[in-house]
Amino acid sequence: MTLAPLTPVAEALAMVLAAAQRINETIDLPLLDALGYTLSEDVLSTIDVPPANNSAMDGYALRASDTEQRLLVSQRIPAGTVGSPLEEACAARIFTGAAIPAGADAVVMQENCTELEGVVRVPGPVMAGQNIRYRGQDVKAGDIVLTRGRILRPQDMGMLASVGLSRAKVYRPLRVAVLSTGDELFELGSGELPEGSIYNSNRYTLAGLLRNLHMEVIDCGIVADDADATAQALLHASEVADCVITTGGVSVGEEDHVKAQVQRLGRLDLWKLAIKPGKPLAFGSIDKTTFIGLPGNPTSVFVTFCLIARPFLLEMQGVAEPDLPHLHAIAAFSVVKPSGRQDYLRVVLENTAQGLLAKKFSNQSSGVLRSVSQSNALAVIPPGTVVSEGDTLEIILLDSIAG
Ligand code: AMP
Ligand code: MG
Repeated sequence: MTLAPLTPVAEALAMVLAAAQRINETIDLPLLDALGYTLSEDVLSTIDVPPANNSAMDGYALRASDTEQRLLVSQRIPAGTVGSPLEEACAARIFTGAAIPAGADAVVMQENCTELEGVVRVPGPVMAGQNIRYRGQDVKAGDIVLTRGRILRPQDMGMLASVGLSRAKVYRPLRVAVLSTGDELFELGSGELPEGSIYNSNRYTLAGLLRNLHMEVIDCGIVADDADATAQALLHASEVADCVITTGGVSVGEEDHVKAQVQRLGRLDLWKLAIKPGKPLAFGSIDKTTFIGLPGNPTSVFVTFCLIARPFLLEMQGVAEPDLPHLHAIAAFSVVKPSGRQDYLRVVLENTAQGLLAKKFSNQSSGVLRSVSQSNALAVIPPGTVVSEGDTLEIILLDSIAG
């Protein structure tokens, strides 16, 4: 029997991204509720920000050309009020954020001035434009302030508010069904753990990962290791979701039914990647719904979700840049035996004077969830690579995914 070659990670990722169909349904949300959603259109400003030239300091607004050192303080302009045009040889007492009165072209900070009986002494020289924030210096009317496909971050919400937009048009959140397979799985809160069982941890890892992406999680529970039960559960999940994610049951054991049932109900486009952990990952569809079969081992679930499922889902969600940021760190460990698969080692990054140092978690077994829980990055070790201490490694920061 010849074994089918494992698909390289980059090839698998390109394939799933190409298969991702962006959802087209949009919703209109009050700005305060839009955090984490994906913008479905470019956003243009209709106004200049700031709307008027204004003072960057508490101080005195004056004409820079007014070489006289003593100026009559003719008016007081707190923020939110509008002053009158500045008379000759006068200064206006002004506060940060207040509009510059007509005629003035500079502000001198109050710490540099002395005011006595309505007359202010201003030390020279004064430069035209100093301490003035000009109209439109942040945004000009007609500027695109945010582009389609942007996941709204707190600073983006502020940005939209600053141009007067109280609502945001976003893609509706993707509906993702999560199905846990395995006769050994026991749900939390159903009593004492029976002999031979384990708690269903994958459900919680996936729910957290999906919620962090602001997607809707449809919990389809645990399905037994049985062909008909698996088929029924897959069919139901595919009817209610945009994407079905299963865990377990995609390997080659007699009790692994997921792959065969997906092939029966729909089609399988990808199975088995050159990835460690997570080799048996499967990808396909049931009717119009995408299917992603993650392996069962808890660490494999996390790694394959981050590398394959996450970018795929974000692409479907309409996110412009679904890729993960890749950084570099120095290896504080060695890898003597090269692997035939791309290895994603769980590491802790430490900030040192030499730069980021990657320390490998002691037990890299795919069943050891602590390797993920205790780490803050994945170190990417390409197939066939050995690593010596001090080598530069490509790393993926987990805080950007699961922080
Ligand atoms: P499988 O691919 O179904 O053979 O599962 C591989 C390993 O992952 C087995 O040791 C399972 O017990 C374990 N596993 C599968 N699903 C889960 C789950 N939902 N939570 C925790 N461990 C799981
Ligand atoms: Mg199983």
